[in-house]
Order: sequence, then C-alpha cells, then structure tokens
Amino acid sequence: MKFAEIAVPVPVYQTYTYLIPPELEATIRPGFRVIVPLLKRKITGYVISLINESDRTDLKPIDDLLDDSPVLVPDLLTLAKWISEYYICPLGEVIKAMLPGGINLESNILIKLQKDSEEIQKYIAENYVPTQAKILKLLLENREMTVQLIRKKIRGLSLNFSVTKLVEAGFLNREVILSTAQTKPKFENWIKPSPAYAENSEIEAIITELSKSAPAQASCLKIIGMTKEISQRDLLKKGKFSSQAITALAEKGYIEKFQKEVFRSYYSMQSLQAPEKIIMNEYQRRAIVHIEEAIAKNDFKTFLMHGVTGSGKTQVYIEAIKRVIERGKTAIVLVPEISLTPQTVSRFTANFPNQVAVLHSRMSPGERYDSWRRLKNENFKIAIGPRSAVFAPLKNIGLIVVDEEHESSYKQLDTQPLYHARDVAVYRGKLNQAVVILGSATPSLESYFNAKNQKYHLLELPQRIDNIPMPQVTIVDMLQQRKRYPGKNVSTFSKALQDKIIEKLDRNQQIILLQNRRGFSTYIKCKECGFIEQCENCNITLTYHLPNRTLRCHYCNYTKKAPQVCPRCGSVDILFQGIGTQKVEQEINQIFPAARVVRMDLDTTARKFSHDRILKDFGAGKYNILLGTQMVAKGLDFQNVTLVGVISADTSLLFPDFRASERTFQLLTQVAGRAGRKNLIGEVFIQTYSPENMSLKFAQQHNFKQFFFSELPIRKELDYPPFGRLVYILIKGEDEQKVQSAADVFYRCLKIPEDLGKILGPIAAPLSKIKKHYRWQLIIKSNKKIDPSGRILRKYLLKALSTYKSQKQLRGVRILIDIDPISLL
Ligand code: ADP
Ligand code: ZN
Ligand code: ZN
Repeated sequence: MKFAEIAVPVPVYQTYTYLIPPELEATIRPGFRVIVPLLKRKITGYVISLINESDRTDLKPIDDLLDDSPVLVPDLLTLAKWISEYYICPLGEVIKAMLPGGINLESNILIKLQKDSEEIQKYIAENYVPTQAKILKLLLENREMTVQLIRKKIRGLSLNFSVTKLVEAGFLNREVILSTAQTKPKFENWIKPSPAYAENSEIEAIITELSKSAPAQASCLKIIGMTKEISQRDLLKKGKFSSQAITALAEKGYIEKFQKEVFRSYYSMQSLQAPEKIIMNEYQRRAIVHIEEAIAKNDFKTFLMHGVTGSGKTQVYIEAIKRVIERGKTAIVLVPEISLTPQTVSRFTANFPNQVAVLHSRMSPGERYDSWRRLKNENFKIAIGPRSAVFAPLKNIGLIVVDEEHESSYKQLDTQPLYHARDVAVYRGKLNQAVVILGSATPSLESYFNAKNQKYHLLELPQRIDNIPMPQVTIVDMLQQRKRYPGKNVSTFSKALQDKIIEKLDRNQQIILLQNRRGFSTYIKCKECGFIEQCENCNITLTYHLPNRTLRCHYCNYTKKAPQVCPRCGSVDILFQGIGTQKVEQEINQIFPAARVVRMDLDTTARKFSHDRILKDFGAGKYNILLGTQMVAKGLDFQNVTLVGVISADTSLLFPDFRASERTFQLLTQVAGRAGRKNLIGEVFIQTYSPENMSLKFAQQHNFKQFFFSELPIRKELDYPPFGRLVYILIKGEDEQKVQSAADVFYRCLKIPEDLGKILGPIAAPLSKIKKHYRWQLIIKSNKKIDPSGRILRKYLLKALSTYKSQKQLRGVRILIDIDPISLL
C-alpha cells in the first residue's frame, strides 16, 4: 500500500491522506500511531486504513511510526468510527479519548526571547500592541516558553499572528520540538546469578571464598543464589549490605543485572481471600439460564436486569463472567465512578484472582497505563472501571456488564466525545457478538422502554436475597412539623426523624443521612435589601462553607471571604439560606452530642483513598452516622444500617430539568435500599415540603413499574426521550453579544424540515454564564418515527456546522453539539 488514511486529534471533521515511506510499508497497519506533519506542527495521528491509489500529488509523507503493534484492537477502530459519526465528533478526537492519557507524542513550538530587557521595554513603549506586549512580558519572566503554555496564560487572542510578527521583528525565535510521551513503561533492576555460575555447587564455593575477604558480598550472593532472581530493591531489604556489594559481584562476573518491567497498581494487592460460597436463588438461576444460553450461542443480546436493591445482581454478573471466562473469552464490567470502592472491587478479584484489571480515574497516569497494557497483553481478562473502561483493549469480548445503568455519570460531559458509555457498551457488544447486561434497581426510562419493546430482554429479580423485606418508608411533611412544634428547631431534623435517630443510636445500629448539597448554606442573603452574593465568573449564587467562612462557587471554584456586613447596604443582618451537609453535621453535633458522625461529600473526599477510608471506618463501626451527598446513596452494603434519612427530597425535585422526577425517584429508591440489608429491618424517613409528589409516593412503595407508567405519558406528551430524540446545542463564549448572534446564525444554518424535528430557542441557557463564558442554547426534538437512527438529523447538523464555520466574524465562540443529552442546563 502506498497511502494511509490518518485521523488526527484536531477539531476537523475529516481524515487526511499521507504517503507511506517505503521503509515503513511492510510494518504499517490500521490501528498504529504515527507522527505526521500537519500545517506547521508535528502531531500524533492514527492509521485508519491503507489505500492503494490517490490522485493527489501534493501528499506529504508520514514521519514516523510510534508502535510496533496496533494500539487499537480492530473492533475499537470500528467503534471509534461509529462514535465519531453518532456523536458528531472528529474521529481523531474519539480515538485519543479511547487511549490512556499521556501516551501521545505532542508536538510543540518553543519560543525563545532574542533581545534584552531594555530593547524590549523600548519596543513596547514605541509600538504598543496589547497582545505583543503581553507575550513579551511573559517571556521576560521566563526566557523561553512553549506556545501551549503561553496560550494558557493569554487566552482568546490572535496569538500565532502576534508571535509571527515578533519573530519577523527579530524579538523571538521559534522552533518545533517534540515533547516525549509522558507515560512510559516502568522498569526495575533485577539480579540473577551469571549463567557461568548457575550450578549451586559453584556458587557455594565462591561464597566460601568470599566470606573471608568480603563478607558483605558473600551474604549478598547467598541470597541471590537462593532466590535465582530477585529485584535489587528486595535484595537490599533482605541483608546488611549496600549496593556496592552488588556492583562488586557484578564486576567480578558472578552475577548479572537485568531489567524487568514492573506494573504499577492502584490496589496493590489483588484480594486473595476466598469468595463467599453462594448458592443462587430461584430468580438468579432463571436469569443465568437466559444469559448462559446467549453466551453459548455467541449471540449479541442485551439484557436489562431489573432487580430491587439487595436482590443479588452483582452475584449474577459474577456467575455470567465465570461462563465467559470458561469459554476463553474476556469481560468488561462498568460501574459508576463512585461505587468503584475496594468493597466492590474485591468481590470481583476474590472470584477471579489475578485476572482483573481495575481502571480508575483516580489512578495516576502510570497506573492506568499499566492496567491498560496488561489488558492489551492478555495478561488480564476482566476489566472493571467507570465510563472509559468501555474502551478496554480486550480481544474476544464475551460479556459487557453495565451496573447501575441509569447512572448519569456514564455520560461524558464537557469534553468531546460526549458519549454515553451504556449505549457505547451495547454497540461494542454488537461488534463482538457478545452479551450485554444492563443492571439496575431503577432502570432509566429509555432502557425499560427498550425492554418493553423487545429491543432488550427483561430479567427480573423482584425480591431481596433471603426474602428480606424492603425497608419501610415514611414521608415526613415538613410544613406540618413546623406547625405542630412551633418554636422548636425542626427545620433540619423533624421531630419524627430525631426520635428515630435516638432510638437507633440507643440500639447501636447505624444510620445513613442524605443531603444532596455540600457546604453550609446554599446562599447568603441580606435581610434588609435582599442582596445575594453571586460568583464573579458565573451566574450562580455562592455557597457558604465552613470552617473558614468562605463563599465558594461550585462551578468554577471561585472563593472569597464571606462578608460580615452586606456589601450593598451595610446591614449586619445576614441570613444563611438553604441546608448543606456541613450544616447538617453541625446540627447533629448539637442535637445528638454522643453520636459519632462522618461526612462524605466532595470536600471530604478530595484526596486519593479518602473516600475508601471513610467507608471502611464506617463499616468497621467507628461511626454511628454516615452523612453525605448522593455519594452515600450508591451501592453501599452495610449490614448494621437500619435507618436512612433524607434531609430534604426537594433539592433534586425542584431541579429545573425534565428528568427531575426520574432523578428523584432513582435517588430515593437507591438510598432507601441501603437500609436493612441483612437480618435487621430497615426504615427510611424522607423529609419534604411536597409530600403529595408522585415520585416520592412511588419511591415509598418501591414501585418502579408504577413510576414508569405514570412518567411515560408525560414524556410522550412533550416528545421527550424515549419518544423523541434530543439534541442540545450549546453556544458559548466570553462576548455575550457574539454568543447571541452566533446562536442566531447557527439557528439559521439549521434547515431542519418541520416534520423531522422542532427547534427550541435560541435562548439563554438556564446556567447562563459559567467560568466567564456566556451560554446560549438550541434544543432539537426530532421525530424518531421518520428518522429512527438519527442519521438524517446528523446530516443536517453537519451541514449546519460547515456553513456556520465559513462565517469568520464569529471567532471566539464555541459550538458544542450534545446528542442524547442528560440535562438541558
Ligand atoms: P445487588 O447488587 O442487587 O444490590 P448483591 O449482589 O450486592 O445485590 O447482593 C446483596 C447481598 O446478598 C450481598 O452481600 C451478596 O453477597 C448476598 N447474596 C447475593 N446472592 C446471594 C445468594 N444467592 N445467597 C445468599 N447471599 C447472596
Ligand atoms: Zn443589604
Ligand atoms: Zn463561578
């Protein structure tokens, strides 16, 4: 083959053709990484296909190959193309997102200062051009910088143009450098006896001889002789000698040093404890029969396993994995980020010792890279991890599990591609003729709808293991409480919940409390003039945080000291409104001084393993109460928890989004499922100001089906999923005027026929400004009957993008297209 089609990770919706130099012709294959020239840069690209002919005569050659085998297994290349097309994301960017971060060689431009400070100051004074002045000032401080770094400091300006001007004027020098890959395999020094002295008797003789003249060397050699091979690190730990003894032995030729690859591991020990002996119950067995049948036939089949909390879903996953491993195949298990705890991981590693690779976003790039490589080398057969583990480089996949398939964390936000890992999992299953199991106690409406329509196969686990009853749920009307106990502090803890907590504390049983807001108060407000502190960068109220009395923005992290007096009118009467987890914690300390409470939210889990430690300590009984945001609602299995309290169900109910009631139902059902999981009966108290709300009622009755059938007509009425297909288009930039006109222009570029879909907007987004960027939105609801796969709609979107791009005056505005969005904010 003479030419290669290459995808590069740049925001361009096309691939490029390059010449293959003769020396690379024999090696190059699809799935390889290459270095190619693109404009003035050198960049990592991915070989998509090899081509025999091209009528172009101006093609540039590929510079180099980066791999000796493809980094992308064949099905991943096909998957990447599908994601690129479905989510309208450049192919190169999709592939980059599939690979572990840091392995790409990045080309960069290094800028060096050529003149001294005096000349530069003079130049700035005489020909003042703001961007040029900024660049020069930066370089005066740093002498040399990469363009990438400069771009981080000076944003949104015509940087390249200014640099070129300064190069022309002789102030700067510019050179292309290739920064090396950030993440590389790690090697360790190992030691073994020289082959010439491999016989035990020979080594014995040397040791005897050395023990007189060099006892340290003798004892060192003794250990090496016994172990046959040992890492230098372990060797030094074992004896009283230094690395000099090792060096001396090597110089004398008795031993050899060599390098061995080490694999960095997040959970350094795979659980070796034997798995629980479990005999499946009737429902689990029925589920496995169907799953096994599909596995045996190599059928692509997607199961939706609807099982109430504690019904033994995880055990079914484990049994299913056994079936595929027996057949020499591999498996991927996706779990929501937050439930990737040692508790979950060890349930899998205990059943499959030394076969499980964990992919965790909290891992260092090195640890992640090593897990990735061990999957690729077929060292491990099972990958477990959050969203991006769906791209695990496994061959011959027999099973993909998506646990808690309704979780919104499966959708990638902010960075392209904006994929949904559950939907990608189903597609990858299809490419591999594999079985896909989506499991949940509260399936998403979309998935349950698919199951009702026979697209997925429904499996049901309607009972908890050992027929443990579902917890009893009480809805507490907070307005009533305030009326009934005037003058008492019942706004955070109703009397009913207070009494229950005291009862459980007395019995030494544990309690989980959910308040889905971190910080102390949601906002502070002046009682005199009504002034509310807002973020400088976002159109968001600031949250009051203890212990340093700061105001913080939860969207951009902007932080400032909380004012003592109102900045507008000077009044000292400041109200703290809304309840955050810190406030709940303070009230627990006041009302139940003897209770030991641990708080779990983003603020207490910022450090690696802190999340794991809190759960471990709670499990070990060090605390009576686990208090937290939605982090405490997911997947936890603590036998001694008999009470779950929801401080306010209204925080998620009042969220301005069409999925608010679905989210609320899910959150309440999930958190309620934490109570009474073994022999003790569980109780749940949900506090609310809307006790009549149907999502709460259905959660109280643990009735998913009724919730589904009451919510479905609402979705149908409004053409929301699963009936209509949603596309969310976000237009954002720092200049409000420009953003608004860009939204108008894009709207006009979208020539969608009326019967294909309705366009709502353009209007300012509900979150109208975040991180100094103004946000406008367009929402498309398209007709799935006319366009079931969305292909026609995507054509219109691509067309609109290219027409829009030809309008040069709208630079500085970004358009983000989100297919199947999970929120419209
Ligand atoms: P889910 O994933 O549906 O919440 P789990 O798989 O975590 O449920 O099961 C709940 C508990 O019951 C776990 O402690 C698990 O070890 C145990 N378990 C699961 N299946 C069985 C069974 N067939 N017999 C006994 N215990 C079981
Ligand atoms: Zn005021
Ligand atoms: Zn902010």
